[in-house]
Amino acid sequence: MEDTNPFETPGSWMKGNIHAHTTNSDGTLSPEKTMDYYSSYGYDFLALTDHGKLTKASSEKLLLIPGVELVSGKSVLGGDYHVVAINVEDEEALQKHAKDSVQTLLDYLKENGFAVIAHPYWSKLTTQDLLNITNYLGIEIYNTGCDVEVAKGFSTIHWDNLLTNRINVYGFAVDDAHWYSNLDAPGGWICVKVRERSLSGLIKSIEKGLFYASTGPVIKRFSYASNGLEAEFSTVRRVDVVSENGTGFSISTDVYNIVRRKPGIQRIRIVKTGRKNGGEEVYAEIRGKSAVFKLSKSGLSYVRLEGFDFKSYVRLEITDANGRKAWTNPVFL
Ligand SMILES: [Zn+2]
Ligand SMILES: [Zn+2]
Repeated sequence: MEDTNPFETPGSWMKGNIHAHTTNSDGTLSPEKTMDYYSSYGYDFLALTDHGKLTKASSEKLLLIPGVELVSGKSVLGGDYHVVAINVEDEEALQKHAKDSVQTLLDYLKENGFAVIAHPYWSKLTTQDLLNITNYLGIEIYNTGCDVEVAKGFSTIHWDNLLTNRINVYGFAVDDAHWYSNLDAPGGWICVKVRERSLSGLIKSIEKGLFYASTGPVIKRFSYASNGLEAEFSTVRRVDVVSENGTGFSISTDVYNIVRRKPGIQRIRIVKTGRKNGGEEVYAEIRGKSAVFKLSKSGLSYVRLEGFDFKSYVRLEITDANGRKAWTNPVFL
């Protein structure tokens, strides 16, 4: 059977960033220093994606994926599409296709690497702009530079609108680093499950969506089966299960503290609680469905849902006490 769940696929995890700039365009570090910077933070792979330029470099310390960032086309609000082209070889062909049209560029990339649509929110892209194009593997749902500089880092609404339209695209967290000031990097990354720690092994896994995106929290397990799911993660303050409108689920330590004092509020009822491994295990009924979660003083670390009528897709998003997030890729139903 084809692997679709990174948490149930054999292999090892690789952490990396696929959007970064060097002195070869408008970044402040040389390609070598940029690679040293990321390897010093324990990254396993990196794509140098200078504007319009394929930066050639090599490193003993991490796996380098060749990449370029290209500007092409116009959005309905007058912005441009920025396309991060990954695992590419031919700078001239990329520039030529980008000049032609964004769709020509994406069609080329479908056969010669893959495309991620960069920072939709920052680019003034609407959902319609993303529905108007095809042949991209994913979008940046989080971009550190856009977040810390102009507060436009998150594009999860674009993502959910695409997923609701059953456009299966993956969610990438990236840095888009220019300064390497510990503000614009390291902030967003993906963790990819690979069978083989090589460029081809890594690309194969990314193309299959065998990864999750993060700005901090670690997802240890996520599985879905017939209207139920189970997930385990590093301790967080809030757990969101996102699906079509009206069918998702959210629990946070704040909500739990209110529900404990006001049973039955908004149709959430605590059925029973128990002590387990130094924490509390809570059985709750939410709109007639069953939810189990584990809590400790520092937050939530486990959730199991049963009998939910998720529609179209379902994905997990968690937020820790510092507001840092992690996102699984969607499961399509
Ligand atoms: Zn850009
Ligand atoms: Zn960029």
